[in-house]
Order: sequence, then structure tokens, then C-alpha cells
Amino acid sequence: MKNAHLKLLDELSLYLKNIPGIGEKNASKYAFWLAEHKDKANSISKLLKEISEKVKSCRLCYNLTANENGICDICSDKSRDHETVCVVETIENLLEIETANVYNGLYFILGGVISPIYGIDSIIKRIDYLVSRILKEQKKELILVISPTTEGELTMQYIKEKLKPSNIKITKVAIGVPAGADINYINKKTLIEAFKMRTVA
Ligand SMILES: [Zn+2]
Repeated sequence: MKNAHLKLLDELSLYLKNIPGIGEKNASKYAFWLAEHKDKANSISKLLKEISEKVKSCRLCYNLTANENGICDICSDKSRDHETVCVVETIENLLEIETANVYNGLYFILGGVISPIYGIDSIIKRIDYLVSRILKEQKKELILVISPTTEGELTMQYIKEKLKPSNIKITKVAIGVPAGADINYINKKTLIEAFKMRTVA
């Protein structure tokens, strides 16, 4: 029979392995490291508890927020252009665009693209929510910043189809890299250029 401590560490490894970028070997390494460094493990555990209690998805755009009203700092910022919405795949994409300082509108985070990996239902649900808001509110432009992969193109097509009843202008950021490249690997300068050169989708 396996020792009790090994069983616990195995269980922790299994959870760690779910984090993107952590393989089986590292998961086990981290689990042992945490077991050996109790102070750090306790601090992490406290922080995780606080994060899970306080940090949630913005109820308008799915960015993260710890604001009590559930609306993130970007959506709450009156100085931003509330008539333009930029659709991105991930919160990391939002941060990249914010860092590039090239855009001052609102965002909407899809959480991926329509593909078997991300799960089709959750993305469709978010798109439906985005569409319902655009049909209700006065929005001028929707900017799609989505990887030009087959699945990304499919996602953009789906959004465009759904928004046919509205007269919102839909543009897409002309990412200056070969088709199939991932938005996550585009550098800041390219992103700024791509934003300026965006075309009607
Ligand atoms: Zn928000």
C-alpha cells in the first residue's frame, strides 16, 4: 500500500498537471517542493483561497475583477470609448493590447475559439451573450482580434452571422503574419500596426 504522504502528493500533482504548460514531471516536482517548503505552501494556499473568493469574471466582458459590483476596471472606466468592443480570445490578449497602448475601447473575452479543445458550448454561450448586448446597446464598432487559424476564422464567421441583424461595423485586425499563426506570439510593434491597419471583416 502506498504511503499516505505519497497519495496526497499524487493528488496534488494531478491538479497541478491540469495547469496549461505543466507536464507530469514538473507537476510532481512542484508537489514535492510545496510539501518541503511549508511557509511558501501556506502563503500560496492563503492567496489561492482569497483569489477564489474575491476574483471573478467581469459580468460584462469576462475580464477578471475583484470589484464588488462584478464589473471590471475597464468596463467601469467612463473615459474609455464604450461604443467600441474588441473581441479577444484570452485575458492575456487583452493585457497585450493594453500594454501596447493602442486601443481605448471595451473588450470581450471569448475564452478561446470554437474548437473541440475549448469546448464549443462555453464559447457559443459567450458569443450569444455578446450578440445580445450589441443588439440592445448602442455600439459602433466590433473589432475582432482572433487568431487566423481555421478555428479562429470559423469563430469570426459565426460572430458575423449572429450580428447580421445589427448594423454594427465589424472589423478585424489584419495580423501581419502567415495564416495559421497564433495571436499570442505577435510582438507589440506588429500588434500596434495591425490595429491601425484593421479592415472590415
Ligand atoms: Zn469588464
